[in-house]
Amino acid sequence: MKGSSISQKPPVLILLGPPGAGKGTQARMLEERFGLVQLSTGDLLRAAVASGSDAGKAAKAVMEAGDLVSDDIVIAILRDRLAAPDCAKGVILDGFPRTTLQAEALDQMLAESGQQIDSAIELEVDDAQMVTRIAGRFTCGACGEGYHDTFKVPEVADTCDCCGAQDMTRRADDNTETVMSRLDAYHEQTAPLVAYYADKGALRRVDAMGQISDIQDAIAALTEHVMP
Ligand code: AMP
Repeated sequence: MKGSSISQKPPVLILLGPPGAGKGTQARMLEERFGLVQLSTGDLLRAAVASGSDAGKAAKAVMEAGDLVSDDIVIAILRDRLAAPDCAKGVILDGFPRTTLQAEALDQMLAESGQQIDSAIELEVDDAQMVTRIAGRFTCGACGEGYHDTFKVPEVADTCDCCGAQDMTRRADDNTETVMSRLDAYHEQTAPLVAYYADKGALRRVDAMGQISDIQDAIAALTEHVMP
């Protein structure tokens, strides 16, 4: 039922889950379907690295090793982005927070504008399959659509189904060794956030091992509850 927990403030959703769980794919769906803005700290950090900014220089080696970038840097980047006018439509956080300190900083940032988290949606996945999922993925460099060597192959090789560009890219940290570090970082530093949001009554869970469309439907149903 739409609007059972109506908030007058723009919705704030978090997607929680290990690398490869499908947070980016699902966040893009929520963007298109509900007009929410996807905030991916991974994307923001990759842009900072590409721009050669001080934050980017500090983050580069950490990201290549599959470790977490320091809370100070990530919180500052997220705070700036959250203040941009388009975020007034409501946001879907993808890859943030990743530590308890980040979660507390987010609560504080939102409280400053009278907001709070509406839902933290955990994408539940089988760890063993995450390496396969990540190692095979690639993205259209023009429009950002995601693909996979096995699970989502473009209709025409090397050509984006969505925009027709021939500009597929693979992330430098999507290799088996770095993926293992990223999974370790998830379990050690991010998984405790499941309990953090459960304690606040904000945690929702979705089985994220099935078909992308079924997962989308489950997440969309949860999102409808928090749309004004
Ligand atoms: P992602 O695109 O979310 O998989 O993030 C790629 C990499 O960026 C991660 O492996 C981290 O090194 C870094 N990163 C992204 N978001 C965060 C965050 N919230 N806190 C710390 N590091 C992050």
